[in-house]
Formats: sequence, structure tokens, C-alpha cells
Amino acid sequence: MTSTWLPVAADHPFGTGNLPYGVFTTTEDPSPRIGVAIGDHILDVGAVAQATGSDHTTVLSAANLNPLMAAGRPVWTTVRAEITAWLTDTAYRPHVQPNLTPRQDAALHLPFTVADYVDFYASEHHARNIGRIFRPDGEPLTPNWKHLPIGYHGRSGTVVVSGTAIARPSGQRKAPTDAAPTYGPSLRLDIEAEVGFVVGTPTTLGTQVPLGAFRDHVFGVCLVNDWSARDIQAWEYVPLGPFLGKSFATSVSPWITPLDALAHAWTEPPPRDVEPLPYLDDRTTEPGGLDLAIEIALNGHTVSRPPFRTMYWTAAQQLAHMTVNGASLRTGDLYASGTVSGPDVDQRGALIEITWNGRDPVKLSDGSTRAYLDDGDEVTVTATAPGPDNTRIALGEVTGRIVPTRG
Ligand code: MN
Repeated sequence: MTSTWLPVAADHPFGTGNLPYGVFTTTEDPSPRIGVAIGDHILDVGAVAQATGSDHTTVLSAANLNPLMAAGRPVWTTVRAEITAWLTDTAYRPHVQPNLTPRQDAALHLPFTVADYVDFYASEHHARNIGRIFRPDGEPLTPNWKHLPIGYHGRSGTVVVSGTAIARPSGQRKAPTDAAPTYGPSLRLDIEAEVGFVVGTPTTLGTQVPLGAFRDHVFGVCLVNDWSARDIQAWEYVPLGPFLGKSFATSVSPWITPLDALAHAWTEPPPRDVEPLPYLDDRTTEPGGLDLAIEIALNGHTVSRPPFRTMYWTAAQQLAHMTVNGASLRTGDLYASGTVSGPDVDQRGALIEITWNGRDPVKLSDGSTRAYLDDGDEVTVTATAPGPDNTRIALGEVTGRIVPTRG
């Protein structure tokens, strides 16, 4: 690992092996600007670029990450090397020191303009659990599940940054035993802990992104909480899939971890027991799994530790599938993995699975129990990944508190 002259411990989860990008403001300077997390500080990289006469001053001085994301892989690599030099070569100290802000003094914002948003369903454990709960009399996996990464187009306009309050959605819900649907606040408000992939380099309509081009197009990774109203979802989802049970809000972490920071995290995905079609066949490509250790806390109490390495479909396969019909990519496209659930009960990424649709409520540290979320509940999703020299780097956390319905 490259050591910094800053007082940051070598094993700090936001050390020089990490360097995620975000957008921040301060009370003194309310203009949104790009920051890079280093230790417990944020470095104003636009200001340092200007002070040092960097070739990348324009993209680093933007109000969000979109221009940098659109610039493509070679620029991402050069910019990361440049920022690393600023933090490790004492010659830059006079330019860096005045542009550091304690992270606790900054407000973090949605770091990029979300173009399109897609959500997948790539955990076999999650898909089997949901299948058993929603369709107890049928096969848990649908016949297509092992042939293609199932997904749906979500609502990009309601993607919000971590910390945004989540109003309980209202809508139609009808239990199988109810004679007719009723309208009202969701009674089964849930979370889905997921990993999001942020597209930088766009494509032209009619072209595809093969598995091997994943790293040319994906800029970085964030954590996602795909809030889900299970009662609304259960009544509306047949035959076209999730709609209002999902579209009210999706929270993302304020830090985008560049793929270059995850170099030590790539791992083989689980064995595929159905041979995929050639455009999804990754047996001869670089390993596409990511060894991320996720943790879900409800009101500060850890309720689950989902292992991302157990995901059946990889992010590269999802991107290849998403574009195989020629659909173009735009800078700022966000696609999420789907709920991350491992094989064990304490590795499940949603309350519907953890509590088995309310049958087995979870007990929190304060002695209270939950089947689903109450107003006032706060959910925080965190994750770490292997970093350089056996350290672990942290992804930005995504948190949100439920507030009473406004409808
Ligand atoms: Mn989801």
C-alpha cells in the first residue's frame, strides 16, 4: 500500500487503497463539489487540481461526478494516480492541507445524476426464499432464472442519497384472504441490501457490452437500499413485476468506490449448474464475483451479514444481459445487484426473508421485536472488501429513517 503523509492509520478503512468519490458542501461553502474520502477527512479535489495545474481540473471541478464518469477508464486511472500522488508526496502538502475538511463537518449529496435505474434479482438464495414465500405451491425458481439475470427497470428520479428520510408509502394492498383491496399506508415496509454499479462510459444504441468490456464502462460501486413495500408489491406484481411497491424511494451511499479500489476483491462466482448462453458464459473471463462483506443494522442492532460473493450472477453478466438487445448505456446509469442473501438465516438481505414474512420476528437490542419496519426505524447498510496488504477497505454506508406516511 502507498503510505500517506497524512495522519491516517495504515489500516484505516478509508486509506489510500480506497479513495472513493463523493459530492459535498460545507456551511462556509455551500457550492457542491467533488470530494475524495481520505481517513476522517474529505479532500476537495477540484481545488487541488486548480492549485496544481492538473490536466483534469475541468472534470474534477464539476458539481457532480458525471463529467469524470463520462471521461472513461484511461482518465479514471490517471486521475486516481494523480490523487494518490497528492496524498503521498509531501511536495503537494501545501496544496492539499488547506483543502481538507473533517468529514463530520460536511454534508454529502447524491454524487451523480442518475440516468436509468435497473434492479436485478441475482441471489439464488434470495430468489428461492421469495419464491417459497410468494408462491408456496410452486417451484421457487422460475424456469428462466438460471438462464438469464432477471431484472426490471426502476425509477431513477426517486434514487436518493443516504440520510434522506423515507416516508412510508401508501397504496393498494390485498392479502389473499381479503375479499377486496384496501388503500392505506404499507403495513409491510421492508429493506433490500444491495450493491449498485454506476456506469461511466456510454454506448451507442444498437451495440452490446460483452463480458470483457465491463471494466471499460463501469466507473464504480455503491451500496443500495431498495426499500420495498411487500403488501403493495404482492398485490401488484403479476404479471409485469415490481412497480409502486418499489418506486417510492431507493437509497444509495454517498461514496462511489472506484473499481480500481476493488482490485483485491474479485473472486470466482459460485459454480453455475446450468450452462449459460455464450454471451453470459464467463468461464474464460476474469473472475466476476466480488468478495464484499455486507452488514445490516436496524436501529444500531446488527440483523444480518450478507456475503456478496455468493451472488449467482455477476455485475459483468448483468451488464452484458442489459445491453444484449442493443439498449444503449448513458453516463449515470445505475444498476443494482438485487437483494444479497447468503445461505444462512443471519445472511439474508431483507426482513421478509429474515422474519419469513413476519412469522419469526427479529429481536432488537432494546428487547423490541420487528416483523417489518416501524415509523422511526433507521436502517444502515455497510460493507467492507479486501484491500491492499491484507487490510480491508470500506464502502460508503447507506442509511435511512422511516417517517410517517404523507399520503
Ligand atoms: Mn431489489
